[in-house]
Amino acid sequence: MPSTAIRPSRPFHHPQPGSALSCGKVSLETLARRYGTPLYVYSADQIVARLGLFQHALHGRDHLVCYAVKANSALAILKLLAARGAGFDIVSGGELERVIAAAPEAVGRVVFSGVGKTTAEIDLALEAGILAFNVESEAELALLAARARKLKRKARFALRVNPDVFADTHPYISTGLREHKFGIDIRQAHRIYASAAGNHWIEAHGVSVHIGSQIRSAAPFGAAIERVQKLVAELRRDGIQLQSIDAGGGLGIDYHGGAFDAAAKVAEYTAAIEKALAGFEGRLLLEPGRFLVAQAGALVARVLQVKRNGKKTFVITDAAMNDLIRPALYQAHHEIVPVRRRPGRPRTVDVVGPVCETGDFFARDRKLAPVEPGDLVALLDVGAYGMAQSSNYNTRPRPAEVLVEKNSPRLIRRRETMADLLAPEIP
Ligand SMILES: *Cc1c(COP(=O)(O)O)cnc(C)c1O
Repeated sequence: MPSTAIRPSRPFHHPQPGSALSCGKVSLETLARRYGTPLYVYSADQIVARLGLFQHALHGRDHLVCYAVKANSALAILKLLAARGAGFDIVSGGELERVIAAAPEAVGRVVFSGVGKTTAEIDLALEAGILAFNVESEAELALLAARARKLKRKARFALRVNPDVFADTHPYISTGLREHKFGIDIRQAHRIYASAAGNHWIEAHGVSVHIGSQIRSAAPFGAAIERVQKLVAELRRDGIQLQSIDAGGGLGIDYHGGAFDAAAKVAEYTAAIEKALAGFEGRLLLEPGRFLVAQAGALVARVLQVKRNGKKTFVITDAAMNDLIRPALYQAHHEIVPVRRRPGRPRTVDVVGPVCETGDFFARDRKLAPVEPGDLVALLDVGAYGMAQSSNYNTRPRPAEVLVEKNSPRLIRRRETMADLLAPEIP
């Protein structure tokens, strides 16, 4: 039964057998009535708890958890995490503006990643005084040095090295092989650190690595850090003392609803990193995105039609690929459950949106508990790369977002209006 997919690893459950799916004590039916659909609903409590798992696992070591803003950049979520001591991993000037808007006091805990930073973005980050730039090429380091000198602001940097380790994940989100566009060949790093040592405007702060996303096994993280730690030790012998190792993000979750113990996952992951770090006295930075927010989120949609075409049954919802593109983009699996259960046997259906693309689907040939037009369904594990990758395709206003904190729901982003969508245009 699909309903068994809801495990304690998700904050959504049926308080009583006959009641509606709820986030804590807050019924998704009530939220849909109040705020309309499609609607993103997040559990603040779960996000905070997930952050706590990392902080607890690393309590014996100097560390900083830099939440990867791109996973879900809602200001309210940034504020929530900043208040609990999190830093941030950003990949654009826009994401820095978000951190400044949500939690200006956390700017000193920001690291700036990304393969193509513009001069304007570098200047913005230098002026703001971020913790460090994760630099992805020699040319970028030269640009950073030039801007630092121009603005008379010393820049701390970490080279993002490419450790050439294979991580078993979707090819679109694997980043740690030499053939990928990311990072600097680890064999070149020593020479680049050495040549940067003579420049007053840049300070070698650390080294960073990020091997990809939705990686389920701890082994590749350990393998990457082993290579990084070897580099750090070699640099130390040459008098270049790095203060931090940034292990990146990428720890995966279980989208299929099997048994999933988040605390055990984090323990296994941090143990693999700690083991590889042996002898390193500096600070450990982590950049988890998905792991903190994915399972905290559900997308609530209303069933518009149940339609039969030949042998197939299509459940058409008012949410579409513009609201959640992961199934279309990565063939991603999301559990889908009725908000209120109906009696009857599951049927094999396609769950699709109204957008004019065959790629506009959430599930294909999926056994779904019975639903009728007007019913609500919840797509689970959508807190990461859901709203963050949404668009206005088909001129569809983006969903509203609600954050539930200690059983109290709060609208954190209102539904877009047509006026919002048309505002930038010049007819
Ligand atoms: C995307 C990204 C992350 C976060 O990845 P998750 O899989 O969401 O944990 C961390 N660091 C960098 C550099 C990234 O590009």
